[in-house]
Amino acid sequence: MFPELDAPVSTLRGVGAKREELLCDVGISTVADLLLFLPYRYVDRTRQAPIAALPEGEEVTAVAPVRGANVATGRRPRFVLVLEDESGTLECVWFSGHRYLRRAFSTGDLLAVGGRLTRYGGKRQMVHPDVEVISDSEEGTRVHTGRVIPVYSTTARMKAERLTSRGLRRIIHQALEDVRLPEPLPDPIGARSGALSLGEAVRMLHFPVQRGDVEAARRRLAFDELLYFQLRLRSLQDVRNNKPAPVMPPRGLLTGKMLATLSFEPTGAQRRALTEIGEDLTRARPMRRLLQGDVGSGKTLVATAAMLSAVDGGAQAAMMAPTEILAEQHARTIGALAAPLGLVVARLTGRQPQRERSEILQGLAWGRVHLVVGTHALLQESVVFSRLGLAVVDEQHRFGVLQRAALLEKEGGAHLLVMTATPIPRSLALTLYGDLEVTVLDELPPGRQPVKTGWRAAADREKAYRFLREQVSAGGRAYIVFPAIEDAGAGDVRAAAAAFEELRDGALSGLRLGLLHGRLAPAEKDAVMAAFRNGSLDVLVSTTVIEVGVDVPGATVMMVENAERFGLAQLHQLRGRVGRGAAGSYCILIADPADGLSPDARERLDAMAATGDGFEIAEMDLRIRGPGQIFGTRQAGYPEFRFADLARDLDLVRSSRKEAAELLDRDPNLDRHDALRKRVESVNLEGKTTRAG
Ligand code: ADP
Ligand code: MG
Repeated sequence: MFPELDAPVSTLRGVGAKREELLCDVGISTVADLLLFLPYRYVDRTRQAPIAALPEGEEVTAVAPVRGANVATGRRPRFVLVLEDESGTLECVWFSGHRYLRRAFSTGDLLAVGGRLTRYGGKRQMVHPDVEVISDSEEGTRVHTGRVIPVYSTTARMKAERLTSRGLRRIIHQALEDVRLPEPLPDPIGARSGALSLGEAVRMLHFPVQRGDVEAARRRLAFDELLYFQLRLRSLQDVRNNKPAPVMPPRGLLTGKMLATLSFEPTGAQRRALTEIGEDLTRARPMRRLLQGDVGSGKTLVATAAMLSAVDGGAQAAMMAPTEILAEQHARTIGALAAPLGLVVARLTGRQPQRERSEILQGLAWGRVHLVVGTHALLQESVVFSRLGLAVVDEQHRFGVLQRAALLEKEGGAHLLVMTATPIPRSLALTLYGDLEVTVLDELPPGRQPVKTGWRAAADREKAYRFLREQVSAGGRAYIVFPAIEDAGAGDVRAAAAAFEELRDGALSGLRLGLLHGRLAPAEKDAVMAAFRNGSLDVLVSTTVIEVGVDVPGATVMMVENAERFGLAQLHQLRGRVGRGAAGSYCILIADPADGLSPDARERLDAMAATGDGFEIAEMDLRIRGPGQIFGTRQAGYPEFRFADLARDLDLVRSSRKEAAELLDRDPNLDRHDALRKRVESVNLEGKTTRAG
C-alpha cells in the first residue's frame, strides 16, 4: 500500500508520533503538506573533486575514506574526523554531539561529506558538514551530498528536538520514494500543461537536477493551482445559469428621468458603460459584469442608472458596500436621485434598531422597498426579496469572491454588477474575475485636476499644518488619516482621538475639527460625515474607515500620517478621496521616521508622488510586493496562491482559464474526473474577509 496523500504524516517511514507533532510547527500535518513544503533555498553541492582540488570558501562535496578520529579538548572541545584520499586530507569538525559521532564512523568507512570548505591552521576543514556513509548498495541514493540540496526552515523547538532541515530533507526524500502521486489532470490537459507530471514536478521542487528545474516545477504546480481556482470559480455559476433573470425594458422610463435631472453630463465612458449594462439587462441570461474605474470616475451614477432599470423592469435592486459609512453615503446619493421618482430607498446595516430593521425586511419581502443599500448585513438569511433583479457590489475588492456569489444565491436569476476602483493587473483580473465581463470607465469627469502629491518627513508636519490652514481659509476641507496599528488593538482609534484633541487645541486651533472612527455609533458616524460634507467641519481626523468610496467633492487636502505603513493600493484609495471636484487638490504623505524607511516604503512613497494613474500604481505594487501582499490583510478577500505568481504568470492564467472552460464544456460537473472534482471542491476562494466598519 502507498501512503495516501491526505493521510497523517505519521503514516510515512521515519515519522513517528514525536516528529508528527514537531512537524505541526511548520504547518505540516498530512503527507501532501509534507510533499508541498517548500525549501526556502537550495545549496549546490554538485561540485565534487579530490580533496586537494576543491575550491575554498565554497559549498562542495568530498568523497573519501575515514583515516581516523580524535577528540580535541581545550577551550572549545571538538570532535575531528580525518578523511584522506590520494590528493590530501580533510578535517571534519564538530563542536557538539561528540558522544554520538564517536560511535557513528569507523576507520575505512567511505564517506561523502558536504559543506563549506575552509582552511584553519593550514588544514582543509569542514565545520559541521553533512555526512553520508557510502556503501556499495547505497551509492546513488545520496540525499545531502553530491547534488543540489534543499534547505527547509524549521522552528527553534524542532531544532531543539533534533528535527533539523537535514532531518526534514531525509523525511521528504523518503516520502518521494514511497508515495505515488496520482496525476490529477485529465490526459490531454496534462500533455499540454508542460511535459512534467505532478510527481516529477514535486520531486524537482525538492531535488532539482538541472538549472531551471525548480522554475519548471513551480510552473507546473502554479498551473494546477490556477486551474483548480478557475474551475471552482466557474462552478459558482451553476446557481445562476439555471434560472433566468428578469428582462428589463431597453430604455427605461425611470432611468431616463433620472439622467435628465443631473446637473452634469455623463462622461463618454459612463454612457458606454450604461449602454453595455443596459443591453445585458434586456436579456434573460443573468448579467455578470465588472465595472472598473479609477477613484472618482463616477461609478455610482452608472450603478444607480442600472438599479433604476431593474425597477423599470418590475424588480428590486440591492447595492452592497463594505462599510457603514459608504452604505450611508450611497443610500443618500441614490435616495436623492430616486426619491423624486417616487421610489422607496432603504438602508440596511448590521447596527440598526430592531424596529427599523424589521420594517425594512418586511418592505423588501413585500416589495414595498424598491432599492436597498447595505453592508454585508444584506447577506443575512432574514433578508428576503420580493423580486431581486439586480445586485450591485461596490468596492468588490473588499469582499470575497464567495460573498459576491452569496448575494445572488439568495435569489438566483438576478443580474450582478460588481464595481471596483482598485485597478488590478490583467493577470489578477483574469484570475479573480475570470467569470465576469469587464467594462472600464477610462475617463474622469471633465475639469478634474491631478492631485498634487508629495511625501514629507515628520519634522515638516508643522509646515503641512500651515498649508492645510491656508487651504481651509481658501475654502477647502481636509482629511487627516491615521493608520491601523497592528497588535495594538484599537491603536488607530486612540491615535486618531489623541491627535484630534492635540490638533484642536494646538496646531489647528480655530478650525472646526471632527473625529471619525469605526467605534462610533452609526448615528454619530452619520452626524460627523454629514457635518464634514456640508462644510460645517473643516478638518476630518479619521482612521482608515474613509479609505474607500467616500465622496465629499469639497475636500481638497488628504494628509496621511505614517504613510510608510500603507500599501500602494491603499494610498491610492486614500488619495482618491480628494480631487473629486473642480478645485485643485493635494495629498501630503507624512513618513515617520523618514530616515528609517525601508527601501520598499521609500519606493512606494516615490511612486505615489510620481503618478496618479491607478493602473500604473497597481503594476508597480505587484512588482514591489508581489501579489500575496498587495491586498495584504487590510484589503483581504483575495485568494493566496502558493506557487502561482501573478506578476509573472499571465500566460498560465490564460491557459488555465482556457483549459477550465473547455473541460467544463465537456464535463460540466466533472463527473468523469472524480479526483479533480474533489480537489476543486476543496479550493478556498478567498483569503480573509474584512468586516464592515
Ligand atoms: P467612484 O467611481 O470613485 O465611485 P463616484 O461615483 O463617487 O466615483 O463619483 C465621484 C464624484 O464625481 C461624485 O461627486 C459624482 O457626483 C461626480 N460625478 C460623477 N459623474 C460625473 C460627471 N459625468 N460629471 C461631473 N461629475 C460627476
Ligand atoms: Mg465609489
